[in-house]
Amino acid sequence: MTTSHSNVDPAELAKFSDLAHRWWDPESEFRPLHQINPLRLEWINSLVPLTGLNVVDIGCGGGILADAMARKGAQVLGIDLAIKSLKVAQLHALEAGTQGVQYRELSAEGLAEEQPEQFDVVTCMEMLEHVPDPSAVVKACAQLVKPGGWVFFSTLNRNPKSFLFAIVGAEYILNLLPKGTHEFARLIKPSELTTWARDFGLDAKGFKGMEYNPLTKRYWLSQDTSVNYLLACRKA
Ligand code: SAH
Repeated sequence: MTTSHSNVDPAELAKFSDLAHRWWDPESEFRPLHQINPLRLEWINSLVPLTGLNVVDIGCGGGILADAMARKGAQVLGIDLAIKSLKVAQLHALEAGTQGVQYRELSAEGLAEEQPEQFDVVTCMEMLEHVPDPSAVVKACAQLVKPGGWVFFSTLNRNPKSFLFAIVGAEYILNLLPKGTHEFARLIKPSELTTWARDFGLDAKGFKGMEYNPLTKRYWLSQDTSVNYLLACRKA
């Protein structure tokens, strides 16, 4: 492992790699990501219209968001450290005929050394809570974005309600996610995320909460950030 690959938990990567062949099955373990994808895509695109922009998606997995952003007309680079997921993402782009998306096996920190301030938009969704040092990823995102550009994060809040809803509820009661997907201690409070962002030159511009109704099986964006949330930041 190189130094730029040191901020990675191999057990976390393996969880996603083992399921990689199912990334594009909308009824699989990745169903929640497919369901939330239009919501996060439209929120991003409403703040910064993606057509013609240079975008990097950090921890892209099978490319659910990267592919959708390319379909909005952005030039998208998706990076991840799970090679199986990247192969699935690439194959999907070929099969679906998606233009303007590329995938590379690279860490955020590695890309930040290689291409600082090259991206109009950086997205890093549902990934920080799987990394040993999430602040280092936030720092790399801040380095990757051009001055005036946007960085979007999404992750899970850490409090008794999020433990109950996101871990007990989603993994053990509703079976929305495989058991062990999320570890409570690794969840991130919005205040922690905004502090890291500010330390690395990113101003918080807006939060959204993401809520789920198990009866209707629908997600929606709200102002309630107590469980799942997204943060939009801008580099000064
Ligand atoms: N961002 C995608 C996938 C989220 S799943 C989406 O929201 O649709 C979390 C992803 O983070 C997995 O693909 C996993 O392989 C990746 N990941 C975990 N640790 C990582 C690291 N240190 N560097 C890059 N990617 C990582």
